[in-house]
Order: sequence, then C-alpha cells, then structure tokens
Amino acid sequence: MAETKTAAYICTGCGIGDTLDAARLAKVAKREGKMALVREHAFLCSDEGVAAIRADLEGEEAVTHVMLAACSRRMKTEAFHFPGAAMARANLREGVLWMVAEGEAHDEVRREMADDYVRMACAELKRLKVPAGNPDRGDARRILVVGGGVSGLTAALEAAEAGYDVLLVERESELGGWAARLWKRMPSREPYGEPAETGIGQLIERANAHPRIEVMLGAQVAQTRGAPGRFQVRIARADGSTAEALCGAIVQASGFTSYDIARLPELGGGIHAHVVDQAGFEALARQANGAPIRRADGRPLKSVVFVQCAGQRDTTGKHLPYCSGHCCGTSIKQAMYLRDADPEASAMVLYTDLRTPGMGEDFYRSAQAKGVTFTKGVAQAVEAAGEGLRVRLRDLILDEDALAEADLVVLATGQVANAGVDLDAWEAAVSAAEKGDAAAVAKKDELAKVSVLNLAYRQGPDLPQLKYGFADSHFICFPYETRRTGIY
Ligand SMILES: Cc1cc2nc3c(=O)[nH]c(=O)nc-3n(C[C@H](O)[C@H](O)[C@H](O)COP(=O)(O)OP(=O)(O)OC[C@H]3O[C@@H](n4cnc5c(N)ncnc54)[C@H](O)[C@@H]3O)c2cc1C
Ligand code: SF4
Ligand code: SF4
Repeated sequence: MAETKTAAYICTGCGIGDTLDAARLAKVAKREGKMALVREHAFLCSDEGVAAIRADLEGEEAVTHVMLAACSRRMKTEAFHFPGAAMARANLREGVLWMVAEGEAHDEVRREMADDYVRMACAELKRLKVPAGNPDRGDARRILVVGGGVSGLTAALEAAEAGYDVLLVERESELGGWAARLWKRMPSREPYGEPAETGIGQLIERANAHPRIEVMLGAQVAQTRGAPGRFQVRIARADGSTAEALCGAIVQASGFTSYDIARLPELGGGIHAHVVDQAGFEALARQANGAPIRRADGRPLKSVVFVQCAGQRDTTGKHLPYCSGHCCGTSIKQAMYLRDADPEASAMVLYTDLRTPGMGEDFYRSAQAKGVTFTKGVAQAVEAAGEGLRVRLRDLILDEDALAEADLVVLATGQVANAGVDLDAWEAAVSAAEKGDAAAVAKKDELAKVSVLNLAYRQGPDLPQLKYGFADSHFICFPYETRRTGIY
C-alpha cells in the first residue's frame, strides 16, 4: 500500500482571501495539522486549481490524502472528485465567512473559527483511509426488463436510448401487453376529444429494431441471484431451454390481470354471453374495424350499458376495494366507438361518480356532445330479456329503481397487479412446510408458480407488496443496510 502523504489546499476565492488570513491558515495546517504539503490557490475549483491537486496526486509528490479549506463539502463535488484519494474539507466559506457577522468586532471569532475548521479537517484527514472500493461491487450495465407491455417497452427504449444494453423478457409470444389488445386509446393530446391510435405497433417496432435491446418472447425469469450491479438471472423459455444473463438492474413491468368477470354473477358476469368486460368490448371493436360493432353472435349492437366500478371500490370485502383509475375513461372511449360507428346506437354509462381527471373532462364533454348518456346510478342485477339483457338499477338522482334494456352489458372490472408471490402467505407456507405440513409444501409450490423474479433470497421470491397487492420496490432484500434494491 502507498505511504500516506497529506496535502492541504487553501482556497482564497469567493472572498475567503479578502476576509481571512490565508498565510495564517497555511501555518495552522502545516504546524498544527502536520500537513506534509500546503498550497494556496485563488480559485481552487477552476480547471487549473483541480489540475494542480491532480498533479500532486499523480505526480512526484504522490499525495494520498487531501484537505481542502474552501467551501462546504456539499459544493463542487464533481470538480473535487478524486476517487483514489482520502479527502477532508474545511468549510471556510459557508461555515465561517457566511456565518460570522461582518466588522472588526468579530475578527477574532472569525479567525478562531477558521483556524478550528482547518485543525478539525486536518485531524479528520489523518484518520481517513484511502478508499479501497467494495470487492463485492458489480458494475454490470445491462438492464433486465421483465414484461413487454407499454411500460416495459418504454423502459427498455428509454434505457437503450440512454446507452444501456437491455434484455426484455416477455412471458407471452408477442410484445404489447394490454395496449396491443385495444382498438383505440384515450387521447393524450389536444383537443382531447376523440379516441386516438394506440401507437403500440411503432413502440414494438422500435424495440425490436433497437441494436441495444434483446427481446426474449415466451420467456420468464426462473431465478435471480446476486445483488445490484451483479444480478445473475436465469431465463426459462417456453420451449424448455434456459439462458443466463448478468444484469446490473431490473425493471419489473409485469402489469396486471383483469379482475375475473365470473366473480360478478349478480351482474351477469360468467353467466350471460353478452355480459363482457372492457377487454371483451375492445375485442369486438377491433373485429368491427370501424364498422358498426356486432355482438359475438353477429347481432349489430343497438344499445349498450356500461356499468362502472363493477367489483371495484367495494366496501363489503368481496371484491376489489380500490379504483383502477382508467376504466371511467375507457368506458367513455368505448361508448364513443359505438356512437361513432353507428349514431343510431344508444350508449349509457352507469356510474356513481365519474373519474376523469385533467383533460379527461374534455373527453367526457366530447362524449356528451356525441350523444352518450350518463346516468348516475348503481346496477343491481343483469338478467336475460329475450335476445338481449335487462339491467335493474337504482337511479341515484331520482332515488328510484329503474330498468334499462341492452343488447350488451360491459362491466368495468378492475386491475389485479401481477406482483408475484405475496410474501406474507409465502412466509406462512414456508414455516409450516418446515414443520412437515404436507399441505403447506403444496401451497408453497403453488405460490411459487406466480413468481415474477424468483429471487434467491431468504426474504422470499418477490418484492413485498403494498396494501392492495402492488409490488413495493422500496425494500431491503440484501444483507446490508440499503433501500436501493436495484429493482424498479
Ligand atoms: C380494456 C382496457 C382498455 C384500456 N384503455 C386504455 C386507454 O384507452 N388509454 C389508456 O391510457 N389506458 C387504457 N387502459 C390501460 C392500459 O392499457 C394499461 O394501463 C397499460 O397497457 C398497462 O401497460 P403495462 O405495460 O404496465 O402492463 P401490461 O399491459 O399488463 O403488460 C405487462 C406485460 O408483462 C408480461 N408479464 C407479466 N408477468 C410476466 C412475467 N412473470 N414474466 C415476463 N413477462 C410477464 C405480460 O405478459 C404483459 O405483456 C386500458 C386497459 C384495459 C384493460
Ligand atoms: S467555490 Fe469553493 S473552491 Fe471554488 S473558489 Fe469558491 S471557495 Fe474556492
Ligand atoms: S369505473 Fe371509474 S371510478 Fe370506478 S373504479 Fe374505474 S376509474 Fe374508478
């Protein structure tokens, strides 16, 4: 190891030289601080000042320890970046100049404080070791993105554009996720009045063509070992083959699954063929390709009721307690599909309160202008009525029961996050399995099947989940104190 050699640099810039006696400070550093080398500079953070320090570090002087008497240690950190050297800083500017009142009456205090700051920094410096670096540190720059929906594609492209190599792993045989199953999307540009193209095709093309992005379809993460900067990831492909990859960081963009419509039998879900969820209606619209939309049995749709918050914002504990956020806008958009393709068709949106934040209000008004009917009410039951359906509802404005006839009912069911294994259930299964409980072993195997990351950590195979089952990336899952997991 190189011998220790200390050096003090007194900056006289930023008014330090006008207010303090730099020669005196140099003496303090030399005599009391025992600095081997002491220099003064009029503008230490300038290219020239930094080059002078670097010359002492790299040249004949072979300095290993640097004391800078200048400004706060929070300032000029990029200029004073000497990774191979130990460094302490005496904060003369903010700590002394800017703190002590002006005037001769305060000269002594100012002088004493400055001397003390220099003494303290010298004392600190002599106790510092030259940073050795962390031998366990990894510096793999490749980024693993799990999930090839619009979020994963965007993350992959942004990372690739920023100069990182990306491995994009998608479970299905195609990229795009939900966005690829939509006919149109809500508008994201002015005048916010019409459904817009999804743009997902271009995003997929860009990702496939990008030289820094490798796409693996029909693939999942079978195991993740290591730590940030050096994740060793095993990818399992649908054909049974595996691949290994070294990645520095992971982006989990595994999206969501639609809440199972069959859990809403009271609204006809899973019972009537012509009660569909919003994804079902997108499929019918895609099939129609701009022409009047037809039901699965080929009958042209003349009336559709869109039921908002179906199995969402539930207070009974039976369904999802939260709001999925997009489905008010999605129903408004879908009602427009219907009216745009056939102005004779009736579209009723049945809601308790519509959530159309920001420019969503303009979109909502545009739907009203197109003749979409918005009824404040709650659907109580959906039943068969001849060739169509009858919706029993409570009208919340008139405060009375009412009926609505429809060819098709669309339920705005919610999103269930693909967050992987619930760690509470996992822990319970693991501890019971360790006691020899056969059912718990089976439960553990069952839970493991939905894992997204398959982390090889004692804390469990996935990130912990927040209140409603969404993955929480702010989590300590490594054997040292950090909240930086390298998983985003
Ligand atoms: C019917 C419907 C209509 C909508 N309309 C609109 C709209 O008009 N405007 C709008 O802004 N939003 C709309 N949304 C919402 C929007 O589509 C979604 O928010 C968005 O597409 C989500 O993208 P994502 O990439 O986060 O997730 P997803 O689209 O769910 O993509 C996640 C991807 O990850 C993959 N995956 C999951 N688990 C794994 C795993 N373990 N390993 C590898 N891959 C995995 C999945 O196969 C999928 O491809 C709509 C949603 C629905 C359901
Ligand atoms: S910013 Fe800091 S290093 Fe630069 S001249 Fe001012 S006191 Fe000196
Ligand atoms: S339908 Fe509207 S209010 Fe209801 S859960 Fe969806 S976005 Fe929220």
